[in-house]
Amino acid sequence: MRKKTREISIGSKKIGGKYPILIQSMTNTKTEDIQATVKQILSLERVGCEIIRVAVPNEEAAKAIPSIKKQIHIPLVADIHFDHRLAILAMEAGVDKIRINPGNIGDKKKVNEVVQKAKEFHIPIRVGVNGGSLEKDLLKKYGGVHPEALVESVEKEIAVLEEQGFQNIVISIKASEVLLCVRAYEMMAEKTDYPFHIGITETGTLARGNIKSAVGLGVLLYQGIGDTLRVSLTGDPLEEIKTAKWILQTLDLKPKEAEVISCPTCGRTNIDLISLANQVEELVSQMDLKPIKIAVMGCAVNGPGEAREADIGIAGGKGEGILFKEGQIVKKIPEEQLFEVLAQELEAYIYRR
Ligand code: SF4
Repeated sequence: MRKKTREISIGSKKIGGKYPILIQSMTNTKTEDIQATVKQILSLERVGCEIIRVAVPNEEAAKAIPSIKKQIHIPLVADIHFDHRLAILAMEAGVDKIRINPGNIGDKKKVNEVVQKAKEFHIPIRVGVNGGSLEKDLLKKYGGVHPEALVESVEKEIAVLEEQGFQNIVISIKASEVLLCVRAYEMMAEKTDYPFHIGITETGTLARGNIKSAVGLGVLLYQGIGDTLRVSLTGDPLEEIKTAKWILQTLDLKPKEAEVISCPTCGRTNIDLISLANQVEELVSQMDLKPIKIAVMGCAVNGPGEAREADIGIAGGKGEGILFKEGQIVKKIPEEQLFEVLAQELEAYIYRR
């Protein structure tokens, strides 16, 4: 059951309440390189990114915002650290949301200036607390980064904003320690109805990062926590979107797209199934197939039965394979034509739809 949170508008999109959980990513271009930044955002949009964040570490980056905004189609978030003037510049330049950690902006007067501008422009602020930048007094009080310390830090930050009568808030509490991060979100979810941006930070490179994100975000989403999410990976941001989509689809929180299932191979496998499965995965990622389950199996004896739930599949044999649909063999195919025949069937499927 999805936790009920307040609705917040981020440009043309809404999060919280009854709205779908939105996928975010962050560019890794220099924001002031407008051409490269727009190019990356457009390719992220194409694979399903719904909100994009850019770093605004200097004035040039803030000045690039109007031009970037004009060329993209999803809400733009500015990520600000330390310098409150950059937050103000970014809002004046037209961003749809800002992410700050009020603690690292320091002086309350400066934070208040940011809040007043956000109020004036109806721009939400994500209060983003991070285990790596936790206040020294909290580290001392709790003896290190603990869920309680993260929660206390967020509560302090929120109080600063609420003192100004500001409630257009999104919360994130990130840490690279998965269980610690999950616990902090769980505790905070008990205390507030502000919407949550969820993510596990500094997860590492692709394989480890995907697993840490899938486990951490999976546990939170399964409990109904999370209104927008980012998978953080040391890699191409396009991979972040792919993983985020698969996490949401696995939990039935996003409509399913085409899914390729394949067997783990065993001593009965007589074809190069690993290459074949990767080839099919690549093909399917480029086709607009929507919900269909495609099986790529290692042997014709057990393959169709083991992949009974698949709509369509191929299975290898000795020099010869088979095409099957819903567990039933349709025809035999020479091994070297397995991929081609499946591709034709999938094309026909799109045409029939
Ligand atoms: S489908 Fe065939 S090759 Fe693949 S794991 Fe099962 S028995 Fe082995």
